[in-house]
Amino acid sequence: VSNRGDKMEGDTIFGKIIRKEIPAAIVYEDEEVLAFRDIAPVAPVHILLIPKRPIVNVAAATEEDGVLLGRLMLTAARIAKAEGLEETGYRIVTNNGAHAGQTVFHLHLHILGGRALGWPPG
Ligand code: AMP
Repeated sequence: VSNRGDKMEGDTIFGKIIRKEIPAAIVYEDEEVLAFRDIAPVAPVHILLIPKRPIVNVAAATEEDGVLLGRLMLTAARIAKAEGLEETGYRIVTNNGAHAGQTVFHLHLHILGGRALGWPPG
């Protein structure tokens, strides 16, 4: 499966959310990225931030995705600030592959906050 098709290739449940085929609690959207609340939150604030372009994960990203990856990180910080997390702190996580527990194969950043988070992760 291609990781950069412009139609249904590499499609996941997040593709359906991008196309508004299934509902999501969207907190931010622009031409390139979309953020929505995780359906099974593990912290008081748990937001997923995704590129609209369906990159599988960071391992599948290429040089030409570099600007978009940077944009995701900067957007995550802006969303965290808007959610009131800047002072207390927050975590940005991206799961890559089996050992990390990646379940949706469309790159996403988890933005987690609203409570003290354990380290190291389980
Ligand atoms: P990961 O395990 O890193 O691949 O994360 C996938 C995340 O997507 C999980 O935290 C799920 O709870 C979340 N998720 C799956 N389906 C949906 C959905 N329809 N709306 C919002 N979040 C979802």
